[in-house]
This record gives sequence, C-alpha cells and structure tokens, in this order.
Amino acid sequence: DRGRLLFAQESIFVKGVVAMSGLPPADRIEVCFAGRSNVGKSTLINALTGTKALARASNTPGRTQEINYFAQGPDLYLVDLPGYGYANAPLPVVEKWQKLLKQYLSGRPTLRRAFVLIDARHGVKKVDEEIMALLDSAAVTFQCVLTKTDKVKAAERDKVLGQVRGALSKHPAAYPELILTSSEKGDGIATLRAIIAGLV
Ligand code: GDP
Repeated sequence: DRGRLLFAQESIFVKGVVAMSGLPPADRIEVCFAGRSNVGKSTLINALTGTKALARASNTPGRTQEINYFAQGPDLYLVDLPGYGYANAPLPVVEKWQKLLKQYLSGRPTLRRAFVLIDARHGVKKVDEEIMALLDSAAVTFQCVLTKTDKVKAAERDKVLGQVRGALSKHPAAYPELILTSSEKGDGIATLRAIIAGLV
C-alpha cells in the first residue's frame, strides 16, 4: 500500500528553521505536526518514519523554537512545529514563535494538512484551541491525532473523544475524522501513514 511504500523510503533531517527566510524551497507537498509539549510528537514522528531518534524529544523550551524539516523520500516534507504550552516559557519567546507559526501557516503554499496532536488522557486544552483558531484563519485543514491511547481505558477514551469532537465542531478548518494512535503499541501508525500518502 501507498503509506507503507512512502514510509519505506529514507527519512532525512533537512534543517531547523527559525525564520521564514530559512524555509527550504516550496518544491514538494508538506504536512506539519503540532501539539502541546510532551504530547508525544517526537515519538509519533519517529514511529511514523520507523526511526529511533529522528525527531528529538523536546523537553527543553530552547529546543522548541525551531521548525524542523524532515524529507520523507523525494516528494514529501514532514514538518515538526515547535511544541507549545510551556507554563513557564518567557513571554518574548512565546511571542516570537507565535509570530513565526502564524507566518508559516498562512504563507506556505505547499502545506496540505496540519496534524494537531491531542493527548488521549487530557483532551483539547486552551492552547490547542488557540492553534486551531490560527489554523482556521490560515485556512489550513487540520486533523486531530490522539496520542498515547494505550494509557487510557476505553470508557475514559470515549469521554475524551466526545470532548475532542465537540471542540472540533467549532472549527471550520477541522477535518472531522480523528486518528487514534499509540506510538508505544504501534496502533494507528499505518492509518496515519496511509492518510499522509493520500495527500502526496
Ligand atoms: P513531545 O514533547 O511532544 O515531543 O513528546 P515526546 O515524544 O518526547 O513524548 C513525551 C513522553 O511521552 C515520553 O516519555 C514518551 O516516551 C511518552 N510517550 C510518547 N508516546 C507515547 C505512547 O504512545 N504511549 C505511551 N505510553 N507513552 C508515550
């Protein structure tokens, strides 16, 4: 299948970008990944690409400032956006990345879809809503990926799913279908690969 073939190709770190001027040429389709810090974004990107440490866990705010570009084969970029929602990040830092994020989301013609990662235990938080509002205004279609589903029981998961669906209904740019994943168990990874392949 196409998802498997796409991700059987080599994944290469291209560069970390701190300003719009640093973006690589918009010469292929790209999808981006956004989420609160610690949501499991690095782990998910590593699971998708089948690498152990392509995307580094972003446990320090300093590392969250770069937009990281990965080439997945010759026809696709995977774009790892800075993690957000650090309670104690200094305001100038937050403002700087919000500006870059806004510029990136509204100014990248090859961006096909944003994947907004939501922790299956926590649901949609205020900072997630802010990103979703940004995606609405940039008219970037986004799809939610629930992470760490192995950490919740079915009943709790269903409750969170309801909360996420309710939140999404308020966002015109939201794609309604949710993707449930566990990078730990490998659940949903093939589905996500196939969805991405369908966008290339
Ligand atoms: P990031 O800050 O969003 O890049 O988050 P990380 O990828 O560094 O993950 C944060 C923590 O969650 C790490 O301790 C991971 O091992 C853990 N984690 C990530 N994905 C999963 C998952 O699917 N299941 C479980 N149980 N833990 C996960």
